[in-house]
Amino acid sequence: MLFDINATVICASKYFDTNQMRALYLKGVFHFGENRAQDLLKKIEELKDLNITWHFIGHLQSNKVKDIINQIDYLHTLDRISLANSIQKHATKPIKCFVQVNLTEEDQKSGILLSNLAQFLLEIKKYDKIELIGFMTIGKDEDRMITDQVFHQLDELAKTYKLPYRSMGMTNDYELAMKHHATHVRIGRKFLELLE
Ligand SMILES: *Cc1c(COP(=O)(O)O)cnc(C)c1O
Repeated sequence: MLFDINATVICASKYFDTNQMRALYLKGVFHFGENRAQDLLKKIEELKDLNITWHFIGHLQSNKVKDIINQIDYLHTLDRISLANSIQKHATKPIKCFVQVNLTEEDQKSGILLSNLAQFLLEIKKYDKIELIGFMTIGKDEDRMITDQVFHQLDELAKTYKLPYRSMGMTNDYELAMKHHATHVRIGRKFLELLE
């Protein structure tokens, strides 16, 4: 296998069509993560004969929640109360959610800021359709030192709140994420090597 690591490897499949995903499945990749509601639905339909675990890893618009929320196994990007409200309204069962935390505090990134996290976690306790299982974060591009720090922070947060899962690490930084006990890594481009 390409990834000899002790975490769930999710193929971030925004780069791949369903033929390529089928090929990856045959090589033992059973977890896929999509970024866009439209693409997710199309791919679920085209791959419904396979036993895939579906993750949603992109920014989720509240108006798309009703279309996808009961189709996925994990949501990695719970990042605001309006999204929680929409999930509470449309989910027919509790949804396993990671809260996305913006630890690099970059403006263009989604995610709850650390300073708002405690309050957010308190508020979503009321939502019985949200099963909080852990935290998700994205490192800082081209900055391994900052990425190392934020992955460490995410690990500490998971411990503080006694949550079992940490979704972090992509093609360029999954080894750093493993050092900080990632349980789920989201790998995209590196899977091209498996398809060659
Ligand atoms: C695309 C994407 C990934 C994977 O990125 P690579 O650098 O191709 O491994 C991981 N997480 C999210 C949220 C993504 O959008």
